Amino acid sequence: MSLSQQDVRQIFEETHALRTGHFLLSSGKHSNEYWEKFWVLQYPRYVDRLCAEIARRFEADGIQVVLGPTTGGILLALETARHLNARALYAEKEAGVRTLRRGLTLPPGTRTLIVDDIMTTGGATRECLELAARCKAEVAGAAVLVDRSGGTVNLECRTEALLTVEAEAYEAADCPLCKQNLPLHAPGTTHEK
Ligand SMILES: [Zn+2]
Repeated sequence: MSLSQQDVRQIFEETHALRTGHFLLSSGKHSNEYWEKFWVLQYPRYVDRLCAEIARRFEADGIQVVLGPTTGGILLALETARHLNARALYAEKEAGVRTLRRGLTLPPGTRTLIVDDIMTTGGATRECLELAARCKAEVAGAAVLVDRSGGTVNLECRTEALLTVEAEAYEAADCPLCKQNLPLHAPGTTHEK
């Protein structure tokens, strides 16, 4: 059973991972939407459904390793790898560089899928692609739960997003929500990557 974009949006809304209102983003801009991915990642049954959909899209690609960046990407890498009967590897930051730690390796030629939760600028996903390239792995593509760039981020590889949305973000000076005097919420910083 496949998941539609509407199904994915509904999962984020039901778990309160997608909130609507008036929010101060870590960039300093204001937005009418706020995504808190860990509110969906707290439910194994939803992680299972989302990763099953990623796995379904790559089931014919001979994936041997699913690679995800800390922190949310790790959970998705493990669950997607379970569905694909592959290995999961975790790209952690060491001195600012994405690295496989603890002696784990991605051998040259390994068929690799990169996964991540929410893609805004694609930074963490790109760092994983760079890591895979350094290891001379063979990248089959990248998959994210939500592409908030409206499809404008180009990773120069096959990219699957379960949901594509265009983020509405405004400079404080010309924020229409401020003009309506809606209270501004400043959620905790989650953009640690
Ligand atoms: Zn505002």
